[in-house]
Amino acid sequence: MSDLFETPSALSNSPWTDEELTSAILAYLDMLRAELNSRPYSKAEVNRQLRAGVLSTRTKGSIEFRMQNISAALYELKMPWIAGYLPAKNIGSTVKEKMVALLRTCGIEFLESYVPTSDHMALAAKVTSLRVQKVGMRPVGNFQPAMVSTITTSYVRDPAVKAWVLQAANGRCEGCDSQAPFVGNDGLPYLEVHHVMPLASHGSDTTTNAVALCPNCHRRCHSSIDRDDFKLALYQKIPRLIVEAPTAD
Ligand SMILES: [Zn+2]
Ligand SMILES: [Zn+2]
Repeated sequence: MSDLFETPSALSNSPWTDEELTSAILAYLDMLRAELNSRPYSKAEVNRQLRAGVLSTRTKGSIEFRMQNISAALYELKMPWIAGYLPAKNIGSTVKEKMVALLRTCGIEFLESYVPTSDHMALAAKVTSLRVQKVGMRPVGNFQPAMVSTITTSYVRDPAVKAWVLQAANGRCEGCDSQAPFVGNDGLPYLEVHHVMPLASHGSDTTTNAVALCPNCHRRCHSSIDRDDFKLALYQKIPRLIVEAPTAD
């Protein structure tokens, strides 16, 4: 293992050119892609190939150190880095900035989906993208995930409307007619109340716009590929519902 605080020793002590740094970055990104996709690769072999090519005046150790610089830049960007190259902590901010700039020109968009986010929509999009590309390695995650405070908008809801809709459902989902899947911690059958025209689209908080659904049907209204058809089916199935026109802000 190379020491984190090792200083780069080089056959040539001249500063690395952009061309040299770029070739190291491209090799690094290839290895990272392999690692993320659980494909085998050899760090030693890549190092050897670099020394046989563009980096012929550099030593094995100085290339390893550059790889740790690249990890440091990726760490800064909250992107994944190669586990075998611990981010070098003793590099200046100028070097790091230069690395980040060069990394961007080398194409790091494929790492964007790995950057943690507090935005629910962005999280969903990243998860979908990662599921499509397939996550090869089991991720480490965060033992102490960062917290952010956000300002949220909530609607003032009428408890009687919600209670009436649940009561009318009488323990059965108004979407699929199955029994509430369990008894809630209040001792009553567990169903969720959904606004067919969302409050966010200026739907009303009334019994003619609210339905009692099992968690599956509720999720289906929000997240399924056939949510528009499902919504139509609810309007057709439940006589008390009145279709409301969506209004944009
Ligand atoms: Zn249901
Ligand atoms: Zn809902």
